[in-house]
Amino acid sequence: MKINLMEIPEEGRSYHWDTQSGELNQILNDLIGKTPHEAEFFIKPLNSRDFELTGTIKTKLPETCARCGIEFPFPVNSKYREFLIPKQDHPRGSKYSKVNHISDLPEDGPDVSEYDGHIFDMGEFLHEVVALAAPFNAAGPEDENGDCSICKIPVKGQSFSYDEEMPGVKPTNPFGVLKNIKIN
Ligand SMILES: [Zn+2]
Repeated sequence: MKINLMEIPEEGRSYHWDTQSGELNQILNDLIGKTPHEAEFFIKPLNSRDFELTGTIKTKLPETCARCGIEFPFPVNSKYREFLIPKQDHPRGSKYSKVNHISDLPEDGPDVSEYDGHIFDMGEFLHEVVALAAPFNAAGPEDENGDCSICKIPVKGQSFSYDEEMPGVKPTNPFGVLKNIKIN
């Protein structure tokens, strides 16, 4: 589902795409099948060429419990904030050459996506947000005893990431740790 950025008024425009309105049904089908989803987002021009995109997407991903191997619906509730910039020419090997839909820029910097000829592929962007939402070790929700509610394996005190804040669209930056090293 593509958005023509030229049509967005100066004050910005908000969008509500869900299973009913259907804009994302096809593009998300390979990830979530017929599971309901709901995306809300707002796009606002920052200047004549750059835009700010903020929003959320909620759905459930079919995940396999890392402890018991049983499939369960993993709740996705991802927030994103992204700057949309015109497609750049990237000389091969330059530090921006890999920038695509999800930014490879340093973790603290803004996330940047490129658009091509006034058109931003919001469907593809949201597909990536949902695809990246599940943690590496997905695990079923804990029950009141702190056990996996699916397989009943005790999980209290174990560092499964289910209750942690959703990772959103931030990719892991292998160089992030270097930023904290002071060189005198
Ligand atoms: Zn389990």
